[in-house]
Amino acid sequence: PRQGTAGRAQSIAPPGVRHIIAVASGKGGVGKSTTAANLALALAARGQRVGVFDADIYGPSMPRMLGLAGQRPTLADDRIQPLESMGLKVMSIGFMMNEEDPVVWRGPMVMGALEQMLRDVDWGELDVMVVDMPPGTGDTQLTMSQRVPLAGAVIVSTPQDIALLDARKGLNMFRKVDVPVLGIVENMSYYVCPNCGHREEVFAHGGAEKTAAQMGCPFLGAIPLDIAIRVNADAGTPIVVTDPEGAHARAYLAIADSI
Ligand code: ADP
Repeated sequence: PRQGTAGRAQSIAPPGVRHIIAVASGKGGVGKSTTAANLALALAARGQRVGVFDADIYGPSMPRMLGLAGQRPTLADDRIQPLESMGLKVMSIGFMMNEEDPVVWRGPMVMGALEQMLRDVDWGELDVMVVDMPPGTGDTQLTMSQRVPLAGAVIVSTPQDIALLDARKGLNMFRKVDVPVLGIVENMSYYVCPNCGHREEVFAHGGAEKTAAQMGCPFLGAIPLDIAIRVNADAGTPIVVTDPEGAHARAYLAIADSI
């Protein structure tokens, strides 16, 4: 990935971070956070120093997905220390509040929180920061793409048309603000019945690959709908760490290798 774009006003990039990659989706619930967590762990498994920045202020998933629910950050030398899990440095608004408390904030408050978590957190030296973006194309996306020198964006979509339509919007937004789109991941691509081996294409299949071709960006790979992916992500130990030799981990590693 490229280094930061010169000339962007008031960058809020942490100084020791080499590449910042946004993981984004048009819609919620397509598995963006699951992909971000597994991708971060895959990059770490490849020997990179990786941080995860949870930019989803209204729906932070990273504390739970990375086994850090209920934990609070500490201060050292007046700086907020990121939490650590499975070799990743992690920061999320979820560490500042109780899990069931909603964030009821207007845009400027959200922007302030994002800024603080980037600027005041002691991220240290990182090769890659993976940013779990909120779904859609709102305030957070604008701030993150205009004020943070993003090396690129990975778009996660499920295969059905309605999700892909929103994925296209997300992709066009990044292009508009000159953030390279590293590619599209098709999540929940197909389902294989564990009892009989029958393969069902629950949300259709191959749509993301076609969309990537139409939009002129890489197709990064397909991840199936699998109970093991959900159970492990929801338990705070994503599949890349629980089954590092398995097919799913290999798929995430292949995505990590191609971005
Ligand atoms: P988003 O970040 O897009 O809102 P999440 O990553 O939070 O989506 O995923 C929503 C739910 O779907 C979670 O319970 C997660 O464990 C589950 N999930 C995500 N990807 C898969 C998959 N490939 N197979 C099975 N469950 C998945």
